[in-house]
Amino acid sequence: MAASSKKKTLNDKELSTRLDKLVQTVQRAEGCFIRDGQWVAVCRTCGRVAPITGKDSIQGGHYIPRGCRCTRWLAANVHPQCNRCNGFLNGNYLMYARWMQKHLPEENERLLDLFEKHKKGEAPKLSVIEKRALYNRWLLKGRKLEEMTGLQLFNDPSHNTSEADSKIQKKPQKQHFAFIY
Ligand SMILES: [Zn+2]
Repeated sequence: MAASSKKKTLNDKELSTRLDKLVQTVQRAEGCFIRDGQWVAVCRTCGRVAPITGKDSIQGGHYIPRGCRCTRWLAANVHPQCNRCNGFLNGNYLMYARWMQKHLPEENERLLDLFEKHKKGEAPKLSVIEKRALYNRWLLKGRKLEEMTGLQLFNDPSHNTSEADSKIQKKPQKQHFAFIY
């Protein structure tokens, strides 16, 4: 419980909210490329191509449902999905499973194992320190994506990456989660 005396340290809930946004924003752009002057990505479950920003942008679709905390922020668990697959088709799960098996077979196994553990109540839990470290790693990814695309993806100034970098220099004890990120 190293409660920081410095200004604002993100609490557990804030970290989760920000992680959600970061992971989805970064992962929806996975494999993005320029088409007709726009950054686009391919829906993993139907092949549709959609812009990574804007109103009808592609989304970060979870393979294992978000309710499973131990897989919620794993890059392997979130990939670009069009709003039809992610929303109307509820994740288009069968096609998602097929895509995972074909393209990420090892990660697929790991994710399913973690999901099983989650259902039995045996899933590893992230400590707040681990979560902070994770948050920082995702912030860096977000910044790299912004640099690459020239887009401002995180309008919320609280996502300003410089803030978190200086804050979390502790080495995480990442025995459970290091392998996938
Ligand atoms: Zn789709």
